[in-house]
Amino acid sequence: MGNESHPLTGGVPRVKRHERHVRPTRLLIMGPQGSGKGTQAKRIAATFDIPTISTGDIFRANIKGGTELGKIAKQYTDKGELVPDEITNAMVKDRLSANDVTGGFLLDGYPRTAAQVEALDHILTELGYHPLDGVIELTADRDELMRRIAGRAVAEGRDDDTPAAIERRLELYEKSTAPLTKHFKERGLLAQVDGMGEVEEVTDRIVAALDAL
Ligand code: ADP
Repeated sequence: MGNESHPLTGGVPRVKRHERHVRPTRLLIMGPQGSGKGTQAKRIAATFDIPTISTGDIFRANIKGGTELGKIAKQYTDKGELVPDEITNAMVKDRLSANDVTGGFLLDGYPRTAAQVEALDHILTELGYHPLDGVIELTADRDELMRRIAGRAVAEGRDDDTPAAIERRLELYEKSTAPLTKHFKERGLLAQVDGMGEVEEVTDRIVAALDAL
C-alpha cells in the first residue's frame, strides 16, 4: 500500500500517517465561498505557525496594484470564472519558491481543478517538498452560504461579489472543486469538517480532524 501511485498525481506515492511528520505543515483548505474558509485559513496557519497562501488574495493584490498579472486576472475574477491554469500554476510555483514557505504552508483556494492538483504535486516535487500532510474541506449548507455571502458582499465591497459572479463561483466549486476531495480522500489526506457554528469551535474541529488523519 505504501508505494501505491495514483493516476492523478503522476505517480506520487501514498504516504501513511506514521511516515509523516507529527505536526502538519503542508496543508490545503477547500470549501465553497461563504464556508468560512478564509477566516479558518488564518487561524489554522497561526496555530501551526505557517504562512497562508491564498490565490484569491494574490490575484486581488495584483489587480489593485495594476500589474500585468492583475490585468489578465481581472478579466476572469470579475465574472467569477477561474483564471487559466497556466497562469495560476506559475503564480503558485513562484510563491512556493519563497524562503518563508520552506517550513510549511497552508494553501487557500488552490488547487481548484484536477489539472491544478496534478500541477501542485509536480511543483512540490520540483521544489523538493515532501507530499501534502492534509487537506481540510469545510462544508456548509447552501442557505447558510447564501446568507453569509450576502453579508460579506455588503461588508467588503469586493468587485466580484455581484450576484452573477457569486452564482458562477458556487457552480464552479460544486462542479470542478468539490469532486477533488474524493482524490484526497483516497490518499488518506482528507479532513472533512462542518463549517457551521462558532469560529473557535470550527477551528477546534479542524485541528482535531487533522490530528485524526
Ligand atoms: P471565493 O473563495 O470567494 O470563491 P477567492 O478569493 O478564493 O474567492 O477567489 C477569487 C477569484 O480568484 C476566483 O473567482 C477566481 O477568478 C480567482 N482564483 C482564485 N484561486 C484560483 C485558482 N486556484 N484557479 C483559478 N482561479 C482562481
